[in-house]
Amino acid sequence: MKTTLNNREIEYAIRKSTRARNLRLTVNCDASVVVTVPRYFFGMYKIERFLQAKASWVLRKIDYFKKFGNRVRVGESRLGHGGRREYKKYREQARALIAQKITQLNQTGEFVFNRISIKNHKSRWGSCSKKKNLNFNYKIVFLPEHLAEYIVAHELCHLKELNHSRKFWNLVAEFVPDYKEQRRALKRVVF
Ligand SMILES: [Zn+2]
Repeated sequence: MKTTLNNREIEYAIRKSTRARNLRLTVNCDASVVVTVPRYFFGMYKIERFLQAKASWVLRKIDYFKKFGNRVRVGESRLGHGGRREYKKYREQARALIAQKITQLNQTGEFVFNRISIKNHKSRWGSCSKKKNLNFNYKIVFLPEHLAEYIVAHELCHLKELNHSRKFWNLVAEFVPDYKEQRRALKRVVF
């Protein structure tokens, strides 16, 4: 779909959702625009009116994401655009950082794992597999240290609790008492 907002032509997609009650507008970090509508919704004019009402917000978001979309915004960092070269450049640095954090956090040796891999994920910081392999995003090197530490602690704890149960979070809290704060801060980091 196409429309013109403040003299600028933009494209958008319409997504039908069984759960949506009202119109909802999303601008993704690749600057694509999506209007979510209830399942049995017709009325293009309503969508158009809705978009016009939010025109300046939409345009601001689009411009913002076109500029910074793919990057990890940490402070003034302009790194973290996810290119292959950058990944190769920082991969070993990330590995060293993670190894150091694991040594600090795993002094008792209670966490047993197989392999650590450094990945170029688009939208996650780490993961832990059933086979006890740990994966981390190389962009961890661009984060403040306390956030990097939280990510490592989080994945280590998954070695014992492969879920996000209360038990899991209690375990995380033993290593990062203010984990809730770190978690919130991490959600604000844009990939
Ligand atoms: Zn998790």
